[in-house]
Amino acid sequence: MQYISTRGGVEPIGFAQAVMMGLATDGGLLLPSSFPQLSRQTLGEWSSLSFNDLAVEVMLPYVEPDLSRKELTALVNRSYSTFSHAEVTPVKPVGNLHIAELFHGPTAAFKDVALQFLGNLFELLLERTDGHLNILGATSGDTGSAAIYGVRGQKRIDIFILHPHNRVSPIQERQMTTVLDDNVHNIAIKGTFDDGQRIVKKLFNDLEFKQRYQLGAVNSINWARILAQVVYYFYAWGRVCRGDLTKKINFSVPTGNFGDIFAGYVAMRMGLPVERLILATNRNDILSRFVTTGAYEARSVHHTVSPSMDIQISSNFERYLYYLVDEDPEQVRHLMEQVTTSGKMVVSSLKMQEVNKVFTAAAVSEEQTLEQIRRTYEVDGYIVDPHTAVGVKAAENTPGAVCLATAHPAKFGDAVKKAIGSEASPPPSLTGLMEKESRCQLLPADSQAVKTFIESTLVTRASEINE
Ligand SMILES: *Cc1c(COP(=O)(O)O)cnc(C)c1O
Repeated sequence: MQYISTRGGVEPIGFAQAVMMGLATDGGLLLPSSFPQLSRQTLGEWSSLSFNDLAVEVMLPYVEPDLSRKELTALVNRSYSTFSHAEVTPVKPVGNLHIAELFHGPTAAFKDVALQFLGNLFELLLERTDGHLNILGATSGDTGSAAIYGVRGQKRIDIFILHPHNRVSPIQERQMTTVLDDNVHNIAIKGTFDDGQRIVKKLFNDLEFKQRYQLGAVNSINWARILAQVVYYFYAWGRVCRGDLTKKINFSVPTGNFGDIFAGYVAMRMGLPVERLILATNRNDILSRFVTTGAYEARSVHHTVSPSMDIQISSNFERYLYYLVDEDPEQVRHLMEQVTTSGKMVVSSLKMQEVNKVFTAAAVSEEQTLEQIRRTYEVDGYIVDPHTAVGVKAAENTPGAVCLATAHPAKFGDAVKKAIGSEASPPPSLTGLMEKESRCQLLPADSQAVKTFIESTLVTRASEINE
């Protein structure tokens, strides 16, 4: 498969290069040059495969010829061996809906599905070039721990994650700092998440530093992350339709950066029988407003009980926009420029008819989220986390829909307790975290201090490795 940029400024490249590039060099996002089309027979065969076998079939056409079937199979098996459920992403009936549990990975949130795969993929590609990568990122909580677990113990990768000191939840802090592998470096910044982001941005703009230390990002826009997420749409469909190819289903997706739901769009384009994708947001509703009005317009960010969806600008949306404007990079550039200069773009009503053939949308308030956690518990005896609750609420008039459960309810204990008076019992990965040994460097919110720490850490690491 060849990859191209939404902005048209990248010569077609292979899968390996697309993964290492992350963000396209022309500022756009990378996409496959076409979608493999599935026959009914193939779909039928896929509907009964195990998660790992299915993952290989779904991903293979996107990674060939850079990865062989054998290499991909080994990657998939290694990546999902860290999941605590034999089915990886099991699907459970809850009331008149189906819940696809995507949270059985090591950090109890769905980002593990993609980041376990990406970490192993990076390691494989670095082995080929005898390279080393230093990942640098700032986190407000969730992505940092999933990224750390994705690369822990890898020989060719070091990871530096900044989090705001005492401003992430105790569980989130512990999830990161109790990972003691030599290649994991947690930094607590005496400041806010924004300070962390500012520092990371500054270091990435320091080109001499960036090149000398092969600095890379934990990109939420890496194509390999989207690809790994396409798999569970096929898996859930197989469990719910049980080989009935005429049956179309609806997916409800708690949405922030549009990565998860875009993976659903890819599955649909490959021929998965999807009726609609239900785009569920919290009160940060830029995307649901787009689907209902055709205007894409940023407003200020509100903090909610579903914090992983508290976003203003959605980094993967440009990928869908590319298809909406009939794969015309010029129009993508024009529209994205409007967003940058005026904070807004508007899509014609003709185009909105296309949008509405694929998506419906709902924005769910704080009260509705807590009320949904309570109702699902009281009526169906099942505890959902606040992100999943947003998706369940959005699907309330769509019986039979598959709701993607993006986090384990024990990870967001405060919101769950507020709704039902008690917390969900934690999965093995969240048990005993508070008692474990931890390691973390506390630094002032100053880019020079972080730079010095990274340099001295890498010098020490290099001498350890060479011994
Ligand atoms: C990241 C995240 C989301 C949002 O996913 P996107 O791909 O950004 O749309 C939803 N729920 C949880 C728990 C998350 O961590």
